[in-house]
Order: sequence, then structure tokens, then C-alpha cells
Amino acid sequence: MTKLHFYKGLRTIGGTVVEIETDKARCLFDFGLIFQNIWEDLREGREEVTLTDYLKLGILPAVEGIYDEKELNDYPLKPWRVEDKPVFFLISHMHIDHMEALGFLAEDIPVFMTEDSYLLYGGLKETGEIFYRFKEGCTGLRENSIYQLEDIRFRLIGTDHDVPGACGFEIRTDEGNIAYTGDLRLHGFHPEAALEFAKEVKGGDVLITEGVTASFMEGEWEECQAESLPLNRITPEDALIEEIKEVLKEETGITAINLYERNVERAYILLRELKKEGIRMVWEPLMAYYIHLFYPTETLYVYEPLLGEYGQGGLPDFLYMVPVTKEELQEQTGSEKFLMQLFFKHTFYLLDLDYQNMLYIHSNGVPLGDYDPAYNKLMDFLERFHIRYQYLGRGGHAYPGDLKYLLEEISPKYLVPLHSLKPEKVRCQEGIQLLPREGSVYLLNNHILKELEQKETHVND
Ligand SMILES: [Zn+2]
Ligand SMILES: [Zn+2]
Repeated sequence: MTKLHFYKGLRTIGGTVVEIETDKARCLFDFGLIFQNIWEDLREGREEVTLTDYLKLGILPAVEGIYDEKELNDYPLKPWRVEDKPVFFLISHMHIDHMEALGFLAEDIPVFMTEDSYLLYGGLKETGEIFYRFKEGCTGLRENSIYQLEDIRFRLIGTDHDVPGACGFEIRTDEGNIAYTGDLRLHGFHPEAALEFAKEVKGGDVLITEGVTASFMEGEWEECQAESLPLNRITPEDALIEEIKEVLKEETGITAINLYERNVERAYILLRELKKEGIRMVWEPLMAYYIHLFYPTETLYVYEPLLGEYGQGGLPDFLYMVPVTKEELQEQTGSEKFLMQLFFKHTFYLLDLDYQNMLYIHSNGVPLGDYDPAYNKLMDFLERFHIRYQYLGRGGHAYPGDLKYLLEEISPKYLVPLHSLKPEKVRCQEGIQLLPREGSVYLLNNHILKELEQKETHVND
């Protein structure tokens, strides 16, 4: 027997929680949070975050057997028990919408992720960037090795996304095989990894895929073409580094760049490529720490005034960290330029500097776009001080044509698009598209997938 439970994240970008259940075990994947912030104002005066608040608000899924009995208090949900069917989690990558809820799980539930994801998760613990609490019992697994827990075999297959360690999965049971893309793209630094994933899971029974960019596409899915193929030496992500380089050549004042702190590879490649041009990156200490995790021998310049912003103990110190003072940054000359990386929450630090002739580059840090009210605040701020603004970024999700190409390559028997505002757009020629509703359960029986309790669904074949 194999059942697929679709709990959450089917028509939203992020927060996907799916379970593969067999006679002997339960495998759930991804356990992130979305929408937790919309209520934060109402919680401000209450220090404690509780599991039951988040369950009542529907931010956490009401899944049986995964939460601790004590923490559930009198909330009517079956808690985790050692004598029940073993349950474990797989995490595709370290983005908030895929991992932020990990700390809410009962302590004894094992969680598996790639080694790089685990390295980053440990880093988040060190920097205090963990929500609720650090989940003990996580293990970093070698990519592509097959592991087995009871009657569920699985492997983590590396893909390409804008965070280190991102992977998809292949899960096999006696009734068939299921693959999950996680978040992936074909225009990043490693398009070959996404293609390799497609090859590895080709022809499977069920493919559960992300469909982020379909949410915003204008044209028809059938007409979109792969944009990142054939693979060029210069991928759009590589080209971005070149664009930033070109822009900086023209600048005579201070330039600040807003990056997402978990996008470690873009940060590192930017550092490496700018160094060749005589431009030094000056990092936020937090960002420097994440780069240091993955590139431990790289000398990293950090903006000294920001060192005080990281709590009493401060950030974990490391060798090769060189502070740069405000004066040094200010006095940069033609032969030695700096590019200052700054988080949104530290925007006021720009006021300490000469902001005449300043350029602000937005490169996919927070706030991500104008749907976030913080974005307009940032725009107002920059405008008020006549700081020029430029967006130079790339998304983490495959362009529609690229995703379509990958899905056609995989050509599964059943296609389940989710992690999208418009999953119905995402199709592939051969595969039967299924659009499960929240809480629905499907039975995979000898490679045939059918909904268990007949509810209204949209099936196209
Ligand atoms: Zn995501
Ligand atoms: Zn992601």
C-alpha cells in the first residue's frame, strides 16, 4: 500500500507538505512556513511562540503523529509516539518556505537533507537565524546514494537553485516511484545538475513539481520555449555577475548591493570576479559568516560598524575576517574600490556615508518585490536621499519554457504541479495532470494513482 497525502502548499508559493505513506513507514517532505508574518503584529506583546497558536492559525499543518504530546497541550491532534509507524522527513533545501517549521517537530523524528543543506542549517544555528528552535536529529546525506527506511527507499539528487545544497528526491515503494523537484532552475550556475536530475527520475510514475514562474506568466504554457538551452558557457546567472561588473566600472561613488544571505554562491562568485577588477566586497558580518562556511580560506572584508549589531556574544568569529572602517569605505579611490553588501534592515547605515552619487543595487535580497510593503518603504527612502536604484538579479525558479523542457524530459505518468499560484498551467505532454486539494489523499497501487476519498478534482489527460 502506498498513499500520498497532500497537506499544504498546493496553491501557494512555498509551504509544501506532502506525505508518502506505506504499510511500514511515513516519509514527509518539506516543512517550511509562509504567511507567519501576517499575524506578527498581533503577537508582538507575547514573547512566546507556541505550536498550538500556529496550528490554530493554520500556519502549521494538522498532521497526525509529528508533534510532541506536551506541546500539543489539549489541541485535538494525535501526537508523535514511539510505538507508531516510523515517520521521517526529507528537506529539499534551506529556504524558509521549505524548512522554517522544522523546530516544531517532535524531537525524535529524524530529518534528512543534503550535506550542504546540513552545513547551512548548522550555520543558521550559530548565527541565531533559526525560528522557534533548532531541530536536533537532522542528518546530512550523500547525494545520489540510496537509503532505506523500512519499505521506503529514497535518494536525494542535487539540482540547481539559489541556495547551496538544493536537491530533489526520488522515493520508491513497492507500488511505484515518486519524484519531487524541490525548487529548481535551468539558468543558474549549474544547469547541468538540473538536467541530470531530470535524467535520473525520467519515466517515473509520479512527479511532484514546483511551478513558481507559471504563476506570473502571460502567454500559453504550450507555446513557451526553453530559454536556457542549449547550455552556453555564459548562463543568465553568470551574465548577471558581468552586468554588475560593468555597472561598477562606471561608478565613482559608493555602491551598496542587497543580496539574499543564503545565496552564498552568488556572493562568492561576485567576490571572486570583482577581485579581478580590483574591487573588494565589504560584507555584512552575517553574510561573511555564511560565505566562510562554504569557502573557509577566503579572506572576507566586513563592515566594521555593523559588527556591533549582532547581539551580546556577536557572531562566531573566524580567521580571515578583516574589518573595514567607515573612513576606509568612504575614502575609496580609483585604484581600490569597494562594493558594500547591505541588508534591508541596515539601510540606515547608508546615512553615515556620503550618499551623494550613491548607487543601490537590488540583487534578490529582502524585500523581494513590490508585493512586500517594505519594498515601497525602501524606494521612498532611496528617493528621499537621491540614491540611484538599479535591479540586477535573477530568480531561483526555472523560466516556464525551461521547466516545460525538464518536465517533457522526465515525462512522468502523473504530474502533480504545486508550489505555484497557477499550478493548472504546468503540464507535460504525456503525463496526466493532477491538481490535488489540500487534505486530499491518493492511492498509488501498482503504478496507478487514484484519489482515495472522491472529492472534486481537476483531471486532464
Ligand atoms: Zn520554494
Ligand atoms: Zn527555494
